[in-house]
This record gives sequence, C-alpha cells and structure tokens, in this order.
Amino acid sequence: MKQILNFIGGTWVEPAGGTYFDDVNPAKGQPYAHIPDSDNRDVAQAVEAAQGAFPGWSGRSIHDRHRILARIADLIDQNLEELAEAESVDNGKPLKLARKIDIPRASANFRFFATAVMQFASESHHMGNVAINYTLRQPLGVVGCISPWNLPLYLFTWKIAPALAAGNTVVAKPSEITPMTAHLLTGICQEAGLPDGVLNIVHGYGHKTGEAIVEHPEVKAISFTGGTKTGARIASIAAPKFKKLSLELGGKNPNIVFADCDYDTMLSTTMRSSFANQGQICLCGSRILVEESIYEKFKHDFVERTAALRIAQPLDPQSQIGAVVSEAHMEKILSYVQLAREEGGRVLTGGKRRILEGAHAHGFYLEPTIIEGLDQQCRTNQEEIFGPVVTIQSFKTEEEALKMANSTPYGLSATLWTENLTRAHRTAEQLKAGIVWINCWLLRDLRTPFGGVKASGVGREGGFEALRFFTEPKNVCIKYGDA
Ligand code: NDP
Repeated sequence: MKQILNFIGGTWVEPAGGTYFDDVNPAKGQPYAHIPDSDNRDVAQAVEAAQGAFPGWSGRSIHDRHRILARIADLIDQNLEELAEAESVDNGKPLKLARKIDIPRASANFRFFATAVMQFASESHHMGNVAINYTLRQPLGVVGCISPWNLPLYLFTWKIAPALAAGNTVVAKPSEITPMTAHLLTGICQEAGLPDGVLNIVHGYGHKTGEAIVEHPEVKAISFTGGTKTGARIASIAAPKFKKLSLELGGKNPNIVFADCDYDTMLSTTMRSSFANQGQICLCGSRILVEESIYEKFKHDFVERTAALRIAQPLDPQSQIGAVVSEAHMEKILSYVQLAREEGGRVLTGGKRRILEGAHAHGFYLEPTIIEGLDQQCRTNQEEIFGPVVTIQSFKTEEEALKMANSTPYGLSATLWTENLTRAHRTAEQLKAGIVWINCWLLRDLRTPFGGVKASGVGREGGFEALRFFTEPKNVCIKYGDA
C-alpha cells in the first residue's frame, strides 16, 4: 500500500488524529493507498504555516514568483509519465487521456499564471488637475482551494497556480477520492524551490477537512470546484464570515445540433463531448438536442459509434472508456438509468455495468449510454448525472431548441452546431450559460473567463479574472490641486 501524507510547512506530516482511510483504484475496485483522515487540528497547523510564509512570499518580486512557478511547470512536464499513470490509476481514466489532457494542462496552468502575473496591472483614475487615484491589487493572505475528483491535478492547479502567482499562500484540499497527483506535486514544488509553507495540502473528507478550511477565520477566500449542493453548503458557512468566494459547480449542458451543421465534425466531437473521461467532465454535453430533419440519421450513427467504443482497463492503450471513479458513483449513475426507464425513456445502447476479466473484474465500468423518449422536464433531463449517460431529444425550431436548452437550473456551458453565422450569433447571445462553444467543444484559451450562471456557480476563473479574485483592490487617492 502506498502512503499519502499531509504537506505542511514544507514537510510531509501524519494527520494529528493518526488515522487513515483507503484510496481505491477504480479500475480494480481495490484499495491501493492510505489517505490521512485530517481534521481541524491539521487545518489549523496548515493555516499557521501559510500565515508564517505569507510575508516572505507576498514580498517576493513577481519575477521571483514567475521563476518558481515556471519551474514547477517544467518539472510537471518532466514527470509527465509518472503523473499520468498516477492519475489514471487513481481516477480510472484512460492513461492516454491523462497523458494528453490532464497532466499537460496542469503544467500549462502553472506556466500560464506564472506569465499572466507578469502582465497583470491595475488601474489609475485621473481627476482633472485635482487628484490621481491608483488601485493597488494586494494578495489576500491565506486562501483555501478545494477541488473535485474528475480532473484531479488539472483542476487543483487551475486554482493554486493563480493563488500563488498573485502572492497568496495556500491551504488546499484535493478530493479525497483522487488525492495521489496532488501528493506527488508536493515533491515537485520542493524541487522547484517553492518556499516552505507557501503551499500546504491537507487530505481528508470534505465535510471534515474541507469544512475546517472554509470555517477557519484566517482563510480569507475560498475557491471551490465541485457539486452544486456542496457549493451551497460552503457558501452558507463562508458568506456570513464575508469571505471571498469563487464557486464552479455542476452542469446539465445542452449540445444543440442544427441540420445545417458540418455533420461529420459534429458527430465525432459529440462522441467526445458525451463520453470523454466517462462523461465525468462538468462541461460534457449531456442533453443532445437535434433538429427533427436529421434526428433519425443522427440517432443511427451516434448509437452505432457509441456501441463500438472500447471499454477497457485504463492502462490499456486501446481503452476509450475506463472506469468511473468509485463504486458509489457507479451506483448513482445506474440509479439514473433506472430512473430514466421509469420516466418512460428508451435505452438505445448501454445502460449496464460491464464486468471485465481477470484483475479488473471488480472495477467500476459502465457502458456508454444513450437514452431517448424523455421530455425536457423529467428528472433525468434536469439533474446532473455526471457519467457516460446522455439523452437525445428532437426539436423543430430554433425557439424550441433555445427553450429546451435554457430550461434547467444549471447554466455552465452549451455547444451549438450550425453553419449559419447569423443563427450562431443570435443563439449564443440567448443561451443562459457562462460558456458557449460554436462548432467545437472544450476548445480552451486560458485567458478567457471560465464559469457558470444560475446553479452552475458564482464568479469566474481564468486569465486576469482569477488574478482579480485572488487579490484585493485598494484605491489610493492623492490630492495635488484645487478644483
Ligand atoms: P463534491 O462537491 O462532492 O466535492 C468537491 C470537493 O469539495 C472535494 O474535495 C470534496 O471533498 C470537498 N467537499 C465536500 N463537502 C465539503 C464541505 N462540506 N466543505 C468543504 N469541502 C467539501 O464534488 P465531486 O468531487 O463529486 O465533483 C463532481 C462535481 O464537480 C460535479 O457536480 C461537477 O459538475 C462539478 N465540477 C464542476 C466544474 C466546473 O468548473 N464548474 C468542473 C469539474 C467538476 P471529498 O471528496 O472528500 O468529499
């Protein structure tokens, strides 16, 4: 069994309570590591270390911070193979996905924010001949970063890189379900010369360790990515304490297909936007809305290609669908397939657990699933399933498509397929979502604002938005003349 430890003040430490729980390899359904079961004592120790490191780190020149964060990015690249395999084992995702997306994106996050902070500037406001105002953008102090299990290192670094670049010190908690790559990152940070106490990682359960971070009076801001219910719980604790909050929450994203689209590109991208990472990406298009005139053709082709996807253990180079992250999550997804049936849905392909042979017989594998025949208001089309399950529905007009697309509590992203430029702009404007992709999906420029509306969250990450979140603006007004 591997052993994960907390990383506090630059050293690896046991949890104060001395207890651990299991980290399960979802591809085999077997524990393979021990995770610290940390509590508020560990969090208090981490906050103290972060407070101690704050004056030094925030006082460093941005060139220094840039150099260290860029070095972390380089070391992530150099350790790509080890990190990708660790991510695949911990999460169940195909190794080739971790190699191509998760780990390169983790280094890109560090490199991007190492550079962005060099370009980050504040405003000044000149009042005629009377005064000049300038805005200082100062780091907040100790900030808390809490991330989910679906893209473990990718989303963890998406938070801690801007927080550190802006001069804050961090207490972070990765998901208890996938803590391994965050643990490996600690060695990289040390090698890169990140000073002790600047980044502290405390492992444990969300309701215990996570809440202790949110509650701690010296933690000035919380950047959270995860489920909407958890986001509401965190907001209820942090808001009365007037902490800054960034909440990136769930989605139930529409993928709208008009008959005039580039069909082949749409189909191959829809395969990815439906089932990449076993459908466990907050941006996956889980409701596919197809214009009536091409509905039958789409259905035929989509079902055929989905049924041919290769489900295999994640380290198999041919694997297209790996394991979902945990047994509990697998059961949750299967319960939604059952619910869809009860709501009158027809399962066109998939819908079951797949049992693999040999060492992977106890792994959590699900067949990619397509369901039709449901109306927009049923629970299957309203609630986030977060697995390899999509529904398909047809529409007759643009107005109808928009109404269906906008009628869930969520508003994270939307995808739109059409070659009609006017319609593309018109529809994008009316979609209630923080991100709209037209004729593409998951095409990311790290400078762009990232986040959702409605129950999908509050605030934006990405680019200068993240650096603004992790700094406090202070206006300084200097009078030098009379009105
Ligand atoms: P959760 O909300 O269950 O957990 C997210 C993180 O919060 C975990 O580290 C978790 O710890 C921790 N946590 C749980 N409860 C608390 C609490 N009371 N106080 C503080 N921290 C807590 O989400 P999942 O990990 O299940 O991730 C899936 C969800 O994330 C989906 O809804 C998905 O849509 C969303 N997501 C959103 C994205 C976006 O950018 N909008 C991107 C990716 C995912 P523990 O694991 O120990 O419970």
